[in-house]
Amino acid sequence: MKTADNGAESSRANQQTSLWNFTLGLKIKQKIKHFIWKCLNRILPTDAIFHSRIGKGTPNCTRCDKRVETTEHIFFFCEHADTIWKMAQLKWDGLEDTRNDFLKWWDLIRMAIEERNDQEATKITAFILWHI
Ligand SMILES: [Zn+2]
Repeated sequence: MKTADNGAESSRANQQTSLWNFTLGLKIKQKIKHFIWKCLNRILPTDAIFHSRIGKGTPNCTRCDKRVETTEHIFFFCEHADTIWKMAQLKWDGLEDTRNDFLKWWDLIRMAIEERNDQEATKITAFILWHI
């Protein structure tokens, strides 16, 4: 019998797969696709992950040293990232609420792109993520 947790996990896995297929279809460099794949699977080598696996160093962000360095912190909550997003002046509506989960955030980007059919904005977004 499936537990509720298993159900949530498998729907997350389904979402990861469909988002990965979407990412593969984007006209962006292979290394950026691979990088987004790591973000979707939560295996981007952040300091928080290193710290929990090796038990050495600090889990804190190498840039601001104020918060634990998770994928979401690096991309959305760190003051460094904030500056970059403001400079980029990309308009993605309603994304603030999903910033605590990269998978949900990327899913909203996917929906917005399918609605607007705007490959260019996606390319720029993926490029910014990679550069942050
Ligand atoms: Zn930071």
